[in-house]
Amino acid sequence: MSEILWRRALELFAGGVNSPVRAAVKPYPFYVEKGEGAFLYTVDGQRLVDYVLGYGPLILGHANPYVKEKIKEQIDKGWLYGTPSKKEIELAEKIRSHIPSAEKVRFVNSGTEATMLAIRLARGYTKREKILKFDGNYHGAHDYALVSAGSAASEYNVLISGGIPTSILNTVVLCKYNDLECVEKTLKTEQIAGVIVEPVMGNMGVILPDKDFLNGLRELTKAYNSLLIFDEVITGFRLGLSGAQGYFNVIPDLTTLGKIIGGGLPIGAVAGKKEIIDNLTPSGKVFNAGTFNANPLSMTAGVATIEVLETTNAYDIANKAAKEISDELNALFSRKNLEFTINRIQSMFQFFIGVKKVTNADDARLANRELYIKIHEKLLKLGVFIPPSQFETIFTSSAHTDEVINITIEAFRKVVNEI
Ligand SMILES: *Cc1c(COP(=O)(O)O)cnc(C)c1O
Repeated sequence: MSEILWRRALELFAGGVNSPVRAAVKPYPFYVEKGEGAFLYTVDGQRLVDYVLGYGPLILGHANPYVKEKIKEQIDKGWLYGTPSKKEIELAEKIRSHIPSAEKVRFVNSGTEATMLAIRLARGYTKREKILKFDGNYHGAHDYALVSAGSAASEYNVLISGGIPTSILNTVVLCKYNDLECVEKTLKTEQIAGVIVEPVMGNMGVILPDKDFLNGLRELTKAYNSLLIFDEVITGFRLGLSGAQGYFNVIPDLTTLGKIIGGGLPIGAVAGKKEIIDNLTPSGKVFNAGTFNANPLSMTAGVATIEVLETTNAYDIANKAAKEISDELNALFSRKNLEFTINRIQSMFQFFIGVKKVTNADDARLANRELYIKIHEKLLKLGVFIPPSQFETIFTSSAHTDEVINITIEAFRKVVNEI
């Protein structure tokens, strides 16, 4: 079935897909019939334990019953009004109550839109033009962010996307992740509007910030009057209710959110200090608008998801799954005498074979990607779906119970023994 659909898709879409990483599943992507809990069910009749989880949003697993009920209730009332609804207030209040830097919020429709707007806002607010970003950090698919980006841009080796004017490329300054010296030198010599960073890298596999990195960014940006932007599209509500900024206790000026705050429906948000956010139209002169901004369906799914995170042990279950699986992998790879490293934080991790440590994108690029893909392919045959790229994150959810963990560990044992 998937093969037949794939042939039709190749006639319709560039490379057969509508987002490039999906084509990394070889020889063709499986097509999904339904998702439930930790599982995907394919049109070919296969059941897969899902560690991709929509590339991050589904921290409660697929079709969480409470979120589903709330979405259904909202659908009965219509799904687009073109005027404000109570749901946007509820979601913004939830975000403000948990995310330390969030005094005010603007909702948009994707993480891409959120970082694009945060960058515009930083420029409008500081009256400076340049942005500092980090090699391998991914901030979505717009012009200002597609320089040495992670995720599919790295997987397909598009380190500078076609179609971006040189004048725009010249406004982006690059540093390596965890390299504070480069940041300081750049801030000293250039007029930088904002430093945008993934506080934990989740688009080059998982890469953690060194102990003083985020703090260092905070101090340096303050010293040089440049804004610190945390791109928490992955980490927001994943590392905990207060995101990476709460986890590491470093408070940025602006925060971009997406993924989990929409509960699996399209969403993005820019949050931050009132005096900065108020520069957006209509109260200020930095323009943003959107037909689907704060649409009630995404707002509802987001509120429901956060309610479950607030009131259940969802994080404990998801974190435990990631810990137990990565501990087991650690033991398996050690027994094989492989050189490897596993980076994990809360419910996100990734393994890198052939390297001892991965602290920036260059390290990640040295990992044995062929072996990673081989493991991915063998696991898929055994009913376990990890991302089809070394440069993505293995996510767990509150639906990854002990039974699901055991199925997974069994599959990993078989696969690692075969390699
Ligand atoms: C996924 C992601 C984005 C882009 O979000 P989209 O909703 O896919 O546009 C931006 N930043 C980070 C850190 C992401 O992981």
